[in-house]
Amino acid sequence: MSSNSSSNSSRISGFHKLGVPERVQRVLDFAGLPAAGLAPLFHGTGHLPVALADQLIENVVGTMNIPLGVATNLLIDGQDYLVPMATEESSVVAAVCNAARQCHDTGGFITSMSATQMIAQVQLVEVPDPANARLAILEHLDEIRDVCNACDPVLVSLGGGFRHLEVRIIDAASGPMVVTHLIVDTRDAMGANAVNSMAEKIAPHIESWTGGRVRLRILSNLADRRLARARCIWHVDAIGGADVRDGIIQAYEFAQMDPYRATTHNKGIMNGVTAVVLATGNDTRAIEAGAHAYAARRGWYSSLTHWEVTRDGHLAGSIEIPMAVGLVGGATRLHPMAGACLKIMRIESAEQLARVIAAVGLAQNFAALKVLATEGVQKGHMSLHSQNIALMAGAQGDEIALVARRLVELGTVRIDVAEQELEALRGGA
Ligand code: NAD
Repeated sequence: MSSNSSSNSSRISGFHKLGVPERVQRVLDFAGLPAAGLAPLFHGTGHLPVALADQLIENVVGTMNIPLGVATNLLIDGQDYLVPMATEESSVVAAVCNAARQCHDTGGFITSMSATQMIAQVQLVEVPDPANARLAILEHLDEIRDVCNACDPVLVSLGGGFRHLEVRIIDAASGPMVVTHLIVDTRDAMGANAVNSMAEKIAPHIESWTGGRVRLRILSNLADRRLARARCIWHVDAIGGADVRDGIIQAYEFAQMDPYRATTHNKGIMNGVTAVVLATGNDTRAIEAGAHAYAARRGWYSSLTHWEVTRDGHLAGSIEIPMAVGLVGGATRLHPMAGACLKIMRIESAEQLARVIAAVGLAQNFAALKVLATEGVQKGHMSLHSQNIALMAGAQGDEIALVARRLVELGTVRIDVAEQELEALRGGA
């Protein structure tokens, strides 16, 4: 156990060995939250009332529960975090805890953010003179700013609103298109609805200035003006030596050069990222789409992270990823569990949340590359997976751990073997 084991340290010894109610209590204590009101939310699994679910989407028939775990050991910008993660995949939470433990005592993660700006696109077609039209739109900068800001006085009062204007010409098969980008600071909102309203409002103006016809008016999920960044140095001694470090670098270089590898490399990063995005009620598809498009920004699909050796021989990892998450809008304010997860992390702004998520993505990537470059994934994965297989075979209560352990001992994590072992266990009882 580290020396940082006070109640406000995220290094909680033996957290995984506690029962669920004890874990909930530790998390609430860490966040300084009263158990009353919040604890029942965690103890039950049906925390989304059907009436609320019915308001969030259409044709509701029920809710779908996903396990919510908490990643420990995360030290981000000098502050300890316990990070809730919603995922159905085993090993994901453990991987983050593991990676974060190996850098906690040497400073943890340092993060930053480019801005909280989103882009709305307005597509203008049927323009015979696209270069002329482009300049005509740019000339109306002040008017565009006023129209956009008038759409959302609340956002403007919070320091957000229209920031920049870009106009591009795209040569499409049907003819030139003039594409206007409205760049808007959406502060603590993800901002899709906010910028879509602005794009729709400005469309008739663009038509009148150019004589063209507006078709699409919609946000771009390539949120490259909302980049969350995280970096971290793992000391070479803390990660098992120079050979492990070099294996991680070679694994990264493989992903950098090969899209087949990069896809899985980035999928691992998104295991961490998406789990926090989901836990906070944010739009997972928006983040996934933005991340993968950003990974292909150079013209080929590549790694979202970067790994190198420092002058002292340590391992430096970094990530830069579009992170359009919000604290208002969509399900973020409405879903009771999303609100509780934000409280556990003591999140005060969308920027802070985005930075924490970037750190989680980097931690996840470190854990994956380290295990891949050394023992391989199956050993750790299979011991967790064996529990699912034991459950599938019908094991209950204490039987689950016994059957799972036996499967790992046999080195064969298969449903038929689990059934045989369960039968033998029950027969022998
Ligand atoms: P929203 O419109 O519900 O809320 C945003 C508004 O809240 C702002 O416009 C502002 O007026 C107000 N607000 C109050 N406090 C604020 C604060 N502190 N910071 C900023 N704004 C504040 O939500 P939204 O974020 O515009 O939209 C998000 C939702 O849109 C998500 O559910 C997403 O799934 C959905 N969506 C996504 C896409 C896409 O990704 N392509 C497209 C359409 C809709």
